[in-house]
Amino acid sequence: MADAYDFDLFTIGAGSGGVRASRVAAAHGARVAVAEEYRVGGTCVIRGCVPKKMLVYGAHFAEDLEDAKSFGWTIEGKRFDWARLRDSVQTDVTRLEGLYGQTLSNHKVTVFNERAAITGDHQITLASGKVVTAAHILIATGARPLIPEFPGNEHVITSNEAFHLDTLPRRILIAGGGYIANEFAGIFNEFGCKVTIANRSDTILRSYDAALRDRLLQISMVKGITFLFHAEFEHIEKQADGTLLVKLTGQEACEYDAVMVATGRVPNIEGLGLEAVGVETGKKGEIVVDAFSKTNIDYIYAVGDVTDRVQLTPVAIREGQAFADSVFGPGEPYAVDHSCVPSAVFSHPPIAAVGLTESEARNSLGNIKVYQADFRPMKNVVAGRNERSLYKMIVDAANDRIVGIHMIGPDSPEIMQAAAIAVKAGLTKADFDATVAIHPTMAEELVLFK
Ligand code: NDP
Repeated sequence: MADAYDFDLFTIGAGSGGVRASRVAAAHGARVAVAEEYRVGGTCVIRGCVPKKMLVYGAHFAEDLEDAKSFGWTIEGKRFDWARLRDSVQTDVTRLEGLYGQTLSNHKVTVFNERAAITGDHQITLASGKVVTAAHILIATGARPLIPEFPGNEHVITSNEAFHLDTLPRRILIAGGGYIANEFAGIFNEFGCKVTIANRSDTILRSYDAALRDRLLQISMVKGITFLFHAEFEHIEKQADGTLLVKLTGQEACEYDAVMVATGRVPNIEGLGLEAVGVETGKKGEIVVDAFSKTNIDYIYAVGDVTDRVQLTPVAIREGQAFADSVFGPGEPYAVDHSCVPSAVFSHPPIAAVGLTESEARNSLGNIKVYQADFRPMKNVVAGRNERSLYKMIVDAANDRIVGIHMIGPDSPEIMQAAAIAVKAGLTKADFDATVAIHPTMAEELVLFK
């Protein structure tokens, strides 16, 4: 390839998308460098999906230990040690960071542990002052938490800091009603913190099926989480004793020990030198790309959250893979299919979904059939836990094709991964009906819908 340049590919950002693209490009024979100013692994590994899931596991023991009594177990002296869980999680994050670094070095990718910016045509300047050139540049810098503007916003934390707290707050206010707000509300609540969620609108998890959202809201309230709607920050005042006095619209001022914002994420584009070469960005600051992740500049590409297409790790990984195969591989270029992407919210209990919600299907298809199973999982019955699961299947009445599956209940993300294959493959309700149930499971409800 173009030996006129120092590298065939220079990737800015060693997160999920950047690492996948870099190692695959290198495996195709490209000379690759990647710059990372913080830790290799990016949001997912260092301060997102992975450590969050470990906290979810840790938190869920609160209910499991409680339920264990009904299954005959006596557990004396149970106690939760936040510092121990926090440190175990960070130890594993460091292990994974090492593995990601190892992957890059195994593929002979040059890693620069510093910031990089585009400073001219095919030219990158590193924080140390070193200047390199590359035939292709990939921007995979991800996104960061959005902190709304209001007096006192310097006192809030985001999910980034939540993983490193010295102690657990006795009372925490979480602003936002999306993925992060509901996942961390569940985690802190299980650890015994008094959790309040405040969202600007009148709903949580806007993109999910309304029946599941209602079910999560109802279960979360029974577990002790307080929800405030149409509540936006007016101001926060730090008091002499360190507590935070928070005034939200329509609410009396209230005291908390910590305030966390989870109000969406903004693409990381500052200081990348995009203006130096004229890379086009959109309204939210996202880098505008075509189906092949190419920007308006022929040799510059972007993948993952910085493009604000579908802000999910597995999607960023697919985009990185497709970019590397298309630009450096032997085959034809191909684009990532962003349709029918399954997703999950690791709340307590979790939600999982694929395809159209009932209202989306009604609007786009008109004539649909909706099947529903509303049941109490066997384990909850024995435990005396009055918590019901809800599964929904949305079917196109014209051809019996399943266009959406939505679940809230224990292990629903685990069950959904397999069900999503069927929906993606365009299977019908009759195909599900023809499949024999595995009994007794929760998942069998998927093939028993009447
Ligand atoms: P989400 O987009 O899920 O939710 C944002 C929430 O904040 C919404 O309730 C929204 O309100 C509110 N909001 C948005 N902007 C503002 C603002 N300016 N002021 C006040 N409130 C605001 O964002 P998250 O931060 O929870 O997560 C970011 C992204 O990370 C997600 O979109 C998701 O793609 C990804 N993620 C995925 C996870 C998973 O797959 N399990 C886990 C965690 C994150 P409204 O209700 O009005 O829209």
